[in-house]
Amino acid sequence: MTNGVTSEELFARARAVMPGGVSSPVRAFGAVGGTPRFVASAAGGTITDIEGRTYVDLVGGWGPAIVGHAHPAVVEAVQAAVARSASFGAPCLPELELAEAICARVAPVERVRFTSSGTEAVMTAIRIARAATGRRVVLKFAGCYHGHADAFLVAAGSGVATLGLPDSPGVTPAVAADTIVVPYGDLHAVRAAFAAHPGQIAAVLTEAIPANMGVVVPPIGFNAALAQVCRADGALLVLDEVMTGFRVGPAGRWGLEGAEQGWAPDLFTFGKVIGGGLPLAAVAGPGALMDLLAPAGPVYQAGTLSGNPAASAAGLATLSLLDDAAYRRLDESAATVAAMVSTHLAAAGVPHRVNAAGNLFSVFFTADPVTDYESAKRQDTAAYGRFFHELLDRGVWLPPSAYEAWFVSTAHSDRELSVLQAALPAAARAAAG
Ligand SMILES: *Cc1c(COP(=O)(O)O)cnc(C)c1O
Repeated sequence: MTNGVTSEELFARARAVMPGGVSSPVRAFGAVGGTPRFVASAAGGTITDIEGRTYVDLVGGWGPAIVGHAHPAVVEAVQAAVARSASFGAPCLPELELAEAICARVAPVERVRFTSSGTEAVMTAIRIARAATGRRVVLKFAGCYHGHADAFLVAAGSGVATLGLPDSPGVTPAVAADTIVVPYGDLHAVRAAFAAHPGQIAAVLTEAIPANMGVVVPPIGFNAALAQVCRADGALLVLDEVMTGFRVGPAGRWGLEGAEQGWAPDLFTFGKVIGGGLPLAAVAGPGALMDLLAPAGPVYQAGTLSGNPAASAAGLATLSLLDDAAYRRLDESAATVAAMVSTHLAAAGVPHRVNAAGNLFSVFFTADPVTDYESAKRQDTAAYGRFFHELLDRGVWLPPSAYEAWFVSTAHSDRELSVLQAALPAAARAAAG
């Protein structure tokens, strides 16, 4: 505890030296109002602010904390690694073991290139796709988020959706012109885009489950159809599993559909869970494509901290805790939380939709189905803000935006659920207005 220092005071100090007072936009509470809580620590399924209040955490660091915060096995692995130095800038055993663990879990993956962020992983995937195809154009879906590289800040999700930004200033028209955006789930629009740009589309880029406009459930067969359309045209499918990889199942979303249906994307991107809370992400795929990367091939990509032993150790320790029982527990906790929230909102007469794909879910304050970015934007974000603040006051920490997924961990237990249960009636009434 902290000699009476408040989040209010710290946020004022932060705004003087950091744009908007934060290192990433959604954290600033702009979408829900009020002052963001400065975090002092987090453990298991809870998070504690600088003023000493503890909350049930349904954000999980936006995904990485899948085994709970500060899991002893992860802490120990990182401490041991850091004691041998946090970064060598040279090959090391932990990165090799993590790469092998990823290849072992996701069958189409033969090679892994580590980066420090999901943004870099997707940038690299697109660079490989353009090099492999000799084409320029990338097709993405409105409301999907793939990090903050220029080419992806066109109709993007996550903070871009939260802030209702048009395409970001600073992205040149030439770059934006190489990105085609179509509505999520709309195969006709995809086919029309291919017809309108014959031989020009290098890659289709999609979230394996869109989860950055809130969660949108992929229509049955949609990812498989994208793989087929790409193959027929000579374009590549980049399946962005930065959010879903190793979260919705041991082989991510692909493992839950592609493995059964007999299709695979050309490239995967991973992040969040595989860094165990430290900065680590990856682009991965078959050798024929991945070996285009330098030094095996001519496509340049690099990173001072890439594959550093501390982040690799955190990722390895996290993955090794994720057995079948862990995924069952995650699925159960997610279903329980979603059902509890829905029950209380219904009791208070609040129109809402729970969208769930495996253990990834979110709640939209709207009576209508949410299937894409346009329908996601029809939600009542003010109702979400009231719901959010009432829960926060009662010890539950939700994403400070209606356009984000909610996250559980294997550390969420009856204790966390009972705090949520007790807080929900008042929060549902607040949402009702
Ligand atoms: C979080 C996310 C990214 C970006 O990862 P960063 O590590 O924040 O750069 C990319 N794609 C998806 C689907 C994500 O959820």
